[in-house]
Amino acid sequence: MLNKEELKALNDYFEEKEPLEVLKWGVEKFYPKIILACSLQAEDLVILDMLSKIVEKPRIFIIDTGRLHQESYDLIDEIAKRYSVDIKIYFPDYREVEDLVNKYGINLFYKSVEFRKMCCEIRKVRPVKRALEGMNAWITGLRREQNFTRGEIKKIEIDEINGGIVKLNPLADWTLEQVWDYIKKNNVSYNKLYDKGYKSIGCVPCTRPVKPWEHPRAGRWWWEQNSDKECGLHYRKEVK
Ligand code: SF4
Repeated sequence: MLNKEELKALNDYFEEKEPLEVLKWGVEKFYPKIILACSLQAEDLVILDMLSKIVEKPRIFIIDTGRLHQESYDLIDEIAKRYSVDIKIYFPDYREVEDLVNKYGINLFYKSVEFRKMCCEIRKVRPVKRALEGMNAWITGLRREQNFTRGEIKKIEIDEINGGIVKLNPLADWTLEQVWDYIKKNNVSYNKLYDKGYKSIGCVPCTRPVKPWEHPRAGRWWWEQNSDKECGLHYRKEVK
């Protein structure tokens, strides 16, 4: 879809550009085969708000892992009421979930990083693959400063993990302050868990509020020591 040289030229061009410019390029090139992955975090709502200004009915998908917070479900309703948006909700395969919990326990994620990643794989990563079927591009709210694993992300990537489609990370160079400035200035809907001290939103058993001095991602899989604090959705392979 894009070769290595084109990708580099695009990233050189867009590195200094605002997220809206990246989104306009993506929409012009790929709509309607472009979709926003909405994990109900602040960044995703910023992008949805921007998208709603440039496309009549943005397409978004949400993964309901079966273990989400009530506040996240409430936000889905709020989004549906506020925006003209094509929302698709994907669930994990119930047979895989049944298999997993019957073999390893309902709270298997606390047992080891390996078990936790198995749960993320079945409840998140595989449904995302289904959500991306037929798409030529997807959009994420990834930012470089979110995690040590994300420091090198580009605004436009080829997602080798998901069939070589394009992956847009329009907020790659934004800070957390920029995200919340945008939310306040534009009165964007946000997950009410942020008002309760959460800084990154995931599933109920695996996410907790953090102290002001802790890293925002410290509340994700908080019991894990020396793990990458990733669910596997955003692993990257260099384009050869
Ligand atoms: S965050 Fe926790 S409950 Fe959610 S999919 Fe991953 S391991 Fe399972």
